[in-house]
Amino acid sequence: MQIVDLRSALEFLRSIPGQLVSTREPVDPVAELAGVYKLVGAGTPLAPPTRIGPAMLFENVKGYDMPVVVGVLASRERTALLMNSRIDRLPFDLLEALNHPCPPVMVASAPCQEVVIRPPFDLRRLIPAPTNTLRDAGPYFNMGLLRAEDPETGESDVTIHRLCVQGPDRLSVYFVPGRHIDQFRIKAEKMGRALPVSISMGLDPAIYLAACFEPPTTPLGFDELTIAGGLRRRPVELADCVSVAAKAIARAEIVLEGEILAGERIREDAQTGTGYAMPEFPGYLGKAQADLPVIRVTAVTHRRNPILQTIVGPAEEHTNLVGIPTEASILRLVENSMPGRLANVYCHSSGGGKYLAILQFRKRQASDEGRQRQAAITAFAAFPELKHVVLVDEDVNIFDTNDVLWAMTTRYQGDASTAFIPGVRCHPLDPSQSPDFSPFLRAEGTSCKTIFDCTVPYDMKERFRRAEFLSVDLARFLPDRS
Ligand code: MN
Repeated sequence: MQIVDLRSALEFLRSIPGQLVSTREPVDPVAELAGVYKLVGAGTPLAPPTRIGPAMLFENVKGYDMPVVVGVLASRERTALLMNSRIDRLPFDLLEALNHPCPPVMVASAPCQEVVIRPPFDLRRLIPAPTNTLRDAGPYFNMGLLRAEDPETGESDVTIHRLCVQGPDRLSVYFVPGRHIDQFRIKAEKMGRALPVSISMGLDPAIYLAACFEPPTTPLGFDELTIAGGLRRRPVELADCVSVAAKAIARAEIVLEGEILAGERIREDAQTGTGYAMPEFPGYLGKAQADLPVIRVTAVTHRRNPILQTIVGPAEEHTNLVGIPTEASILRLVENSMPGRLANVYCHSSGGGKYLAILQFRKRQASDEGRQRQAAITAFAAFPELKHVVLVDEDVNIFDTNDVLWAMTTRYQGDASTAFIPGVRCHPLDPSQSPDFSPFLRAEGTSCKTIFDCTVPYDMKERFRRAEFLSVDLARFLPDRS
């Protein structure tokens, strides 16, 4: 079955037991919806109780006649199913797509424009943007894929940015400094011009995954949609917007068309004054940003019976979205510098897919001793926001935290097996990366990057051989469990 959009993805998930649940019970988009999904399937690093579970469709959202789906990518197993891959093959398949890009094509008639709504409208009544917690700045679109073009070169970029609904036709947008669409915005602003954007929501999961690649793998000007096309071996379809000079994902459920206004700023919690934004990926409630760029929405277009797709801030879905592209980026760089040594890599949920990577290293010969640490340094270069690297051998299951901690317990000595790289630029959303926390840090968002080397020294492999059990044909004993 071919997945070409959110609908076909949901239909596919419905055919697999345990991957999609729906409820007709009325749910409040303010805090309740997120509260339910925290228990059903959000996962670490949300505070317990939470777990990895199915995606969930809320058919009856109070005050709206539009359903909301959450958690489409909130399990690695489900992400693998949706990508026609396997848990341990995902980064390799993404890398394959990166190496075989397929550029998007324009289509004349777009499903996302079956219904066109022009001003005046009130976004707050039209679309049930969820508010994740009661202290949030307001309702957010969290799975809005922005697409914009460089006002000088015409190069394009797609990225997910958090969008807080600030009025009938106003959104604030938060860009972490350096993001590509923000660079386009700054250029446009210097020219005194607004930057046209499309915000596509409810998409083929391959598009979201591809959009989460970051530099250096996808430098400024690299169109991440070519990777989505590579993943599906068919081009992503784009359509001209109806109200601005921008292009949107043709098979999106909903598109907000608009422009980032030149010179206009808003405080993120301007509507509520809570002081906070929303739960961020490391698991903490983020502070409201002081002055964010403003998007004026010029039209809303959608499919008939549209579904709003969302994500519950920090959790397994964020981990998969940003972690799997990061894994592919690490594989690519390490493979280039030492072919055949990096067996696999996993960007763990505890770091939201960004802060912690577990590298499975294959020491093939005596001269490979120490190369595992070189691989860790290369991983830091592949993804600058990475903070901790755990190195393990081939006989450790990197997707099983118990097994990784076993390696850290029996193959690791704190003073000898740890390597510190102090004072490196990292990521500001981790509250420990701050001079208040450590006097050795000179600036917010810098960190002591650390390598935890839990690999066995090459010349001691014999002593660390795991107990070997007989290999058996389990199907003989448990025929139903194959
Ligand atoms: Mn980019």
